[in-house]
Order: sequence, then C-alpha cells, then structure tokens
Amino acid sequence: MDTLSSMSAARIAAGVASGEFSATQVAEASLAAIEASEGEVRAFLQVSADLALASAKRTDERRAAGEQLGPLAGVPVAFKDNMHLVGTRTTCASRMLENYESVFTATCVQRMLDAGATPMGKTNMDEFAFGSSTESSAFHRTNNPWDTGRVPGGSSGGSAAAVAAGEVTISLGSDTGGSIRQPACFCGVVGMKPTYGAVSRYGVVAFGSSLDQVGPFGRCVQDVALAMNALVAGGRDSLDSTSQDVRPDFLEGLDDSVEGMRVGVIPALMEHEGLTAEVREGLQAARTALEARGVQIVEVELPNMASAIAAYYVIGPSEAFSNLARFDGVRFGYQEPNCATLAEQTALSRAHGFGSEAKRRQMLGAYLLAAGVYDKYYYPAQQVRTLITQDYRNAFERCDAIMLPAAPTCAWRFGEVSDPTQMYASDLFTISNNIAGNGGVSVPVGLGSQTGMPVAAQLQGPAFQDKKLLRVARALELGIEEAKLHRPGTVAPAFAKKGGDLA
Ligand code: GLN
Repeated sequence: MDTLSSMSAARIAAGVASGEFSATQVAEASLAAIEASEGEVRAFLQVSADLALASAKRTDERRAAGEQLGPLAGVPVAFKDNMHLVGTRTTCASRMLENYESVFTATCVQRMLDAGATPMGKTNMDEFAFGSSTESSAFHRTNNPWDTGRVPGGSSGGSAAAVAAGEVTISLGSDTGGSIRQPACFCGVVGMKPTYGAVSRYGVVAFGSSLDQVGPFGRCVQDVALAMNALVAGGRDSLDSTSQDVRPDFLEGLDDSVEGMRVGVIPALMEHEGLTAEVREGLQAARTALEARGVQIVEVELPNMASAIAAYYVIGPSEAFSNLARFDGVRFGYQEPNCATLAEQTALSRAHGFGSEAKRRQMLGAYLLAAGVYDKYYYPAQQVRTLITQDYRNAFERCDAIMLPAAPTCAWRFGEVSDPTQMYASDLFTISNNIAGNGGVSVPVGLGSQTGMPVAAQLQGPAFQDKKLLRVARALELGIEEAKLHRPGTVAPAFAKKGGDLA
C-alpha cells in the first residue's frame, strides 16, 4: 500500500488526474497524517481542513466534468503563516496579529492553488521571520521530525518540518537571510530560495523588502521544480513591481547530464571556525557525488563574505523597522485597551504585541536609521552589498554554481543556542546570497556522523539562472542517491509509517 508520505507531488497529481484516487482522498490522507504527527511535531499554527476539503472537492468535480487539471492537482500544500490566504488567519506567529483574518490571498499562494494544490494550513515560524530556530514563535515551538528534542531550523521551521514529517508534500517558506535553506537542511528536505524578483512578494508580510524571497520545500528536487513552475506561471505579477517575468519550465531538462559543468568551492570557508566535522564530511561527499556525474570542481573565492553578516544585520533590521511600523494597534495589530492617549496606546500595543526578538530588531533598525548614525552604518552596509554582489559576479565567470554548506552545524538541541548573536552567526553561509539577490537551494546529502541529523549542501547560482541551478541540484541528488547516502522523497524515519494510506 502506498502512503501519502511515500509519494512525490508529480505522482499524486498523476494519480488524481487518472482517477486512481481522488483529491478528496489525498486531502483526507494528509489530514490523517497531520492528526497522527502534530502532537509530536507541531508544524502548524492552523490546519485549514474545511478549505482543504472544499478545494479537493472542486478538483474532483473538475475532473468529473472532463476539465484539464493543473500540474499540482490534489497535492497537499502548506503555507508559512506570513502568507495571506483568505479563509485563514495570518499571524506571522506573533501576538500582534493573533486574530488577523486575511483579507486577500498572496500571489504565491494563489498560484499554487491555481495549479490545483490543496491548501492544508498555515505553518509555524519565528515571529515575523526573525530567527533561525522557530523558537521565537509567540505560540509554540516546532520539533524537528528527525529528533523531536532538536530545533527544525527557521524561520520557516514549520514549513520544513511539515514536509519532513510527511504531513504535506510541498510547502512554501520565505527566505530573507536563509530561512528556507537552513530549515530545509535541518529537516532533511530540499528547499529553494529563488532569485530575488523571480517570485512575487505580494501578500507576504514584509521583513526586509530588498532581501525577502518566497520559495518551495519538497522531499525531492523534482517536487521543488514542479512548485517553481506553479510559482512563476503567469509571469510577472503586476501587484509586485520588483517581480520579473521569468517563466522557464523548471522540469524540462532537469535530468539532463551536467557533464562538463563547473561547480565552485571555497576552500577557505571549509576551514571556518564553528563548522563541524560532520558538515565538512557531508560537503566532501557532495563534491564526490558531483564529480561522479562529470562535474568539474573549481576553486573560487568570495573575499567579502566575512562582512555579510554585519551588512545583513544593518540592512535587515533597518528595513524591518520601516516595515513593522504599521503594526501600531490602529492600522494593524493588537490594540491595548483602556489607554488615556493615542501615544500610550501605540506604545503599549507594541510593547505587548511584539516578542523580544521582534523588538530587538526594530530597536536596532530605529537606531541605525537615526540622523548621525546611518552614515556610519547604513551607507557602509550598502557598499558591502555592492562588493559582495561583485564578488559573486566574478566567481560566476569561472563556474555555473557555487557549493557551500547550508549551515555550519546540524540542527541543535533546544536550549543549546540561546545567545542571539550566536544564532545570527549561524546564517554565515546563506546570507550573502540574499544580499546579492541570487538563487540558492539546499539539498540533503546524508546524515551527520556525530549527531545522526541531516546534513545538506547548498548550491548557489547566478541571478535568474534558477533553472540551471535546479539541474545541478538534481545531479547532486542523483549522485548522493547512487552513493547510497540519502534517498530522495523520504520522510523522517519516525514518521514514515504515520502517513495516511492512499493507493
Ligand atoms: N535567520 C535570519 C534572521 O534571523 C534569517 C531569517 C530569514 O531568512 N527570514 O534574520
């Protein structure tokens, strides 16, 4: 018997289209998987059972009427809770928006629905996407399906965990400094941050507008490619002026040979303090796997990468401070009752609506943008941004993609990283990619020899070459599978048997 969790998105859509099973059966299997696993994982903030069943019913009716179904017909999908979907609350895992009902649907969400996907619910995250462990959610923590005593990563930890536990087949996350790639790494799934502008940000609650990008999680590269097709279908979104008209077919040529392609590695980075032996071993295995498929490994450098975290923690908080000013208890968000003045109401609404990490980021942003301060920090950060972008341009003259770790360690135990600056440092390998706006994807390459937790390699590509990037990711996945280090499509072992039966 096939369970929902053993099927790829393409397999589910094909089964629904051929009538092997109905979209309603798939939605029920996903609800059963959620029911069986949520007690341990807690990936969701809301499960939208009614929406899911209504959407699946429509898919089944369309099939009965002989209509052509979309490429994600009946595929159970979850959305990070910073994406608007009419019929759900969009809380950003914050008390500030605890009761906020979505009044419109984000373009990225709508495009998944247009492709036929079934919306299963909204996933947990770090509050307003500030964080790397999902622990800053105001509501509850999410546990890593590979070891429930460990964090799932963040900020899109719920989306990664829901896919890793087999509750849904695909999910969407957002990545401002690594929030798709790092939780994908920690949960042993594939996660892609497309090039900035490739996917519309309309209807996604903004953190750092020049850095934010939406992307998919899946259990194999093919599922991620399928989701990417849905996200760019229809081309440029006129509701997001930074979105671009990119609509390649990400599935076309996905399995083509990568013989002769060049992948850059950065030897100095592999000596970085804090990088664990098991991550280094995983990257070595990835290199061997790519070489076995005919990829040529070349050495490149990104000389200004060491300044990326500093630049990000100027640009990110500055933009967050501006973006989050709207949550004042009048225009949006929690409103403190019984205040004597508007000033008091604003102050107390914000004091009680935001958690400590959200406050820390906004206070930092307020300071950085103050007169007399911003020329000392904001300007240099923008200069560093130009340098990093130039570094990538130089590096990509010598290679098609760069391979580096997704994170310096595997998923840590709850409580192991409590100092915010230590948490910030863990984004070392992902942040420069957001600063330059390029695409990046995290691919599982096996389990760590020390922790037994998933290890991933991250591939980064030039802007708007996400299709080629996914081809390299697919080659890596195949090479890793051939070396028997990881089997694509698998869920975390403890949850493999919990998925609802299907066919
Ligand atoms: N961990 C980083 C931060 O805390 C990145 C978060 C993200 O990409 N949303 O800012």
